[in-house]
Amino acid sequence: MKKKLEMLEELQEVEQLIDTLKAAQDALHAEMGGISQSVDLAREEVDVLQSSLTQFESEKAELEATHAAELENIARSETNMKEIKTNKEFQAVGREITAAKKQVTEIEEQLLQKIGQIEELAGELATKKGKYEEIVENSAERIAEKQTEIKKIQSDIDADITRREAVIKGMPASLVKKFTLLREQRRGQALAIAKDGYCMGCNMHLPPQLYNNLYKNEELLTCPHCQRILILKLQQQ
Ligand SMILES: [Zn+2]
Repeated sequence: MKKKLEMLEELQEVEQLIDTLKAAQDALHAEMGGISQSVDLAREEVDVLQSSLTQFESEKAELEATHAAELENIARSETNMKEIKTNKEFQAVGREITAAKKQVTEIEEQLLQKIGQIEELAGELATKKGKYEEIVENSAERIAEKQTEIKKIQSDIDADITRREAVIKGMPASLVKKFTLLREQRRGQALAIAKDGYCMGCNMHLPPQLYNNLYKNEELLTCPHCQRILILKLQQQ
C-alpha cells in the first residue's frame, strides 16, 4: 500500500510540474499575442493617417481642378466682353467675372489651408511610421525571446512526460484511471493530505473511523467529501 501511495504522490508531483510548465508556456503565448497586438495597433494608426492623407491629396487635386476651371471661365468671359454691344450685357458679364474672381480667391484660401493640413498630416505620418518600425523591430526581438523560452520549457515538459510514463508503467491501470479521472474532476488535484483529522483538499473533517484506518495503511482511502485519495501526514512530518 505504501508503495502505491508513493507512486501516486510521484505521479501527482510530475503532473503538477507539467501543469505549471504548460501554464508558463500559455502565459508566454499570451505575451506574444499582446506583442503582435501592439504591432497591429501601430500599423492601424499608420494606415488611418495614410488614408486621411490620401483623402486630403485628392481634395487638393479637386480644388486645383476647380481653380483652373474658374480661371478659364474668367479668361473666356473677358474675351467675350470685347464683342459685347450693349451696356446691359457688359454689366452682366462684369458681374459674372467679379463673382468668379471672388470664387477663385476663396478656392485659393481653401487650397492654402489644405496644403497646410497635408504638411501637418505628412509630418505626423512620418513620426508614426518611425514609431511603427521601431515597434516592429523591437517586437520581433521580444517574440524570438519568448519562442526560445517556450522551446526551453517544452524540453522540460518532454522530460517530465517521460518521467510520468515511467511512473505510470509501474502502476496498476485501474489506479492510473482513477487518478486521472479524479484529477480532471478536482482541478488537477487527485490526492489530498489528511492531517489533524481533516482533509486538506477540501478542509472538511474526516470521520474518525476513516482517519484511524489511514494509520493502518491497508487500502487506498478517499475523502467522503471531495473523493480525493487521502495521504496521511503526521504532525511531526
Ligand atoms: Zn476532501
